[in-house]
Amino acid sequence: MKINTNSPFFFNAHDLPRRAGEFREYSLTITLPEAMGIPMLSVPKNENLAVELRITSVDEGIFVSGQVSARAHGECTRCLDPVEFEIDQMFNQLYEYEEKAERIKKNAKPDDEEDEEILFLTGDFINLEIPLRDAIVLALPSNPLCDEECAGLCSGCGEKWAILPADHSHQGTDPRWSGLANWPGLTRE
Ligand SMILES: [Zn+2]
Ligand SMILES: [Zn+2]
Repeated sequence: MKINTNSPFFFNAHDLPRRAGEFREYSLTITLPEAMGIPMLSVPKNENLAVELRITSVDEGIFVSGQVSARAHGECTRCLDPVEFEIDQMFNQLYEYEEKAERIKKNAKPDDEEDEEILFLTGDFINLEIPLRDAIVLALPSNPLCDEECAGLCSGCGEKWAILPADHSHQGTDPRWSGLANWPGLTRE
């Protein structure tokens, strides 16, 4: 099996005795080769993930549990101001021995979808990319806001409501609408 030893996500579990119940703990710093997160909010490329890792020998392989800490950067979905978000997320993942991977490959049927979720050891190596990515995406809010109360932008001029005067309005500025401005029941955006 090919091992990409350049990947910062590969962790060598060589020091863990392969006897069920044995465990080792590590503090890792992983520098991201690419941004990790969601389009509106992510940990940027070249930033560090701090990972507290515990690897435990189990009968099927190695069970990995840990905590990832990092700082994500992004934009408020309402006003586009920069937003920072602290990630502090637990994760765990079982990595099974390769013998089982070979067995599954041999018996694989096209509709064997469930087996795709199983991760395997690559020799002594654990690829932490998938559980770390999942933990980070899980920790991030899907609609980041600079503030829960953020009022967003004026649809008329794109300026932030937070810095506009309370009586800010575009009534009358567009001649097409000026005649309508005084109609009863007509509310401005
Ligand atoms: Zn905002
Ligand atoms: Zn405006």
